[in-house]
Amino acid sequence: MSIDNNLAQITSALPAACTLVAVSKYKPNEAIIEAYESGCKDFGESKVQELSQKAEVLPKDIRWHMIGHLQRNKVKYITPFVHLIHGVDSLRLLQEINKQAAKNERTVQCLLQMHIAQEDTKFGLSLEEANDIIARLDDLPHVKIMGLMGMATHTEDTEQVRREFATLKGLFETYKNQERENLQMRHLSMGMSGDYLLAVEEGSNMVRIGSAIFGTR
Ligand SMILES: *Cc1c(COP(=O)(O)O)cnc(C)c1O
Repeated sequence: MSIDNNLAQITSALPAACTLVAVSKYKPNEAIIEAYESGCKDFGESKVQELSQKAEVLPKDIRWHMIGHLQRNKVKYITPFVHLIHGVDSLRLLQEINKQAAKNERTVQCLLQMHIAQEDTKFGLSLEEANDIIARLDDLPHVKIMGLMGMATHTEDTEQVRREFATLKGLFETYKNQERENLQMRHLSMGMSGDYLLAVEEGSNMVRIGSAIFGTR
């Protein structure tokens, strides 16, 4: 299967309002160009250095998504150009993004990464931590929380995956009622190659898909 065919197949299975973020980590620029020429403008990377190198040489109208775990000391390298940071998993990280965004005279869009999986290996905020961050947003004028991100447990148990996605969707709706200038629930980023159809059924409007587009890594 070609990248073009894979994209066509996935896109036809997604609702029109669902944004497809093509996860291009570890894939060469040629593969990204192929997807770009098939109409894809949103790409996700999980490593700061790889993201920066690709952004420098690839078309300027690509919207770059930082989907991986982000270390505070690396925030400065991506704040000038990043479109959306999916993996905000601590207040200190968000404070650093705010600081670097101010330096760049930008407002940087972020998603709060919530811990929804049963595995303790997955990064993410507890409900308490997320509430704490949201209570402090007035002090962080250079970031905008645009939604939530989560990763379900890697399991064959589809009912469990469904429950985890439904939990995130519920929280998304709760925060919708608390919207203000820098808290706007637009994006619910959940679903990867193995579980995006379930995620969409549970209300996802942003899926992050890598191997189903570009092949295994
Ligand atoms: C790698 C990655 C993906 C894409 O995974 P696939 O299974 O290849 O679709 C999605 N989200 C995050 C956070 C990732 O690190």
